Amino acid sequence: MQQGKKLGILGGGQLGKMLALAAGPWHYPIYMLDESIEFPAGPYAMGFTTGSFKDYDAVLAFGRQMDVVSIEIEHVNSAALHQLEKEGIKVHPSPKALDIIKDKGLQKQFYTQHEIPTSDYQLYSDEHEIKNAIEAGTLSLPFVQKSRTAGYDGRGVALIKTEADLGKLLPGPALVEVLVPIEKELSVVAARNEKGEIATFPLVEMEFNEQANLVEFLLCPARVADAVVEEADQLARRVIEAFDICGLLAVELFLTKSGDILVNEVAPRPHNSGHHTIESCITSQFDQHIRAVLNLPLGSTKLTSPAVMLNLLGEAGSTGPAQYEGWEECLAMEGVYIHLYGKAICKPFRKMGHITILGETPEAAIEKAMLVKNRLKVSGKS
Ligand code: ADP
Repeated sequence: MQQGKKLGILGGGQLGKMLALAAGPWHYPIYMLDESIEFPAGPYAMGFTTGSFKDYDAVLAFGRQMDVVSIEIEHVNSAALHQLEKEGIKVHPSPKALDIIKDKGLQKQFYTQHEIPTSDYQLYSDEHEIKNAIEAGTLSLPFVQKSRTAGYDGRGVALIKTEADLGKLLPGPALVEVLVPIEKELSVVAARNEKGEIATFPLVEMEFNEQANLVEFLLCPARVADAVVEEADQLARRVIEAFDICGLLAVELFLTKSGDILVNEVAPRPHNSGHHTIESCITSQFDQHIRAVLNLPLGSTKLTSPAVMLNLLGEAGSTGPAQYEGWEECLAMEGVYIHLYGKAICKPFRKMGHITILGETPEAAIEKAMLVKNRLKVSGKS
């Protein structure tokens, strides 16, 4: 065991917290860099450096004390990561791959170059160019506009269906995609180590709440044909290899109404669609990320129980110190695992935690999840 090797993580949010908890059983030295020790990972990391992961000097100084540097968020200073790599420090995912993934335009071009199926798209320098293209007849409605950088959790995405929606166009460089007729949104979390070993977690399906335009819950295993499971798995393996990534890569997919599987986007870190693995797989995605970036043997990704994962989002209309409702009641239910991230302030739709619900069958897990969803609430005390 490389107990001596120090692992540094840029970011100390909930993903950092869950990485630190996964390192716990091995007593593995895991360190975090983020702005405040009050952040979710603060109490769990073996060492916590206060500073911004967007700052060149802060990332360089932190990384120089580590043997391996990884991330729990993409929006980090990658110039510093390139420098650390030059100095002989292992950086996973590689800064080269990270630069491509951080820019949704470059990411799309990468798929085209590598013949990875994705929706048709065009790049535009700003919203004026998009409007001009519509006027000139080279672009037609409906479409989806995505900011090339700085998008996160749907915030950099605008759905433009009618002329009236043009006011919603996002400023700055963007990519415009055709509106895909989506049958289901799927995800595969893949992992790869330096030896080139690859392991993939079972396919996850994301159930959408049309009204709120939010993922309502995630279900594993996905309810799709075996051929879809196989194709999605093969595609995720191709994508992680093409990017030459060590660590995790979550591959978000669209299954279209005509049965095609397209890559929507990827995230080179632990991902929401892998949270359920903590309780439902032999190895969790967090354990797997640590194994992969340290070039250790990858763990079994076998699913031991059907699972549903619900995000615990702040209730609409209240901001303030977080207060929880119904959690004791939910703790009393068999197979219900509550994860609270310890964020002091609750805001509307802020991710405050998640709940994994195991069931004998997918249907039983969904039924129990609906009870939990109606009981467990978090809001901001005013
Ligand atoms: P983010 O990086 O913010 O998560 P995504 O690219 O995943 O952004 O888009 C957010 C959501 O918008 C997707 O989960 C999907 O529901 C919808 N969406 C994105 N692209 C398309 C598309 N080309 N066609 C139809 N729906 C889309």
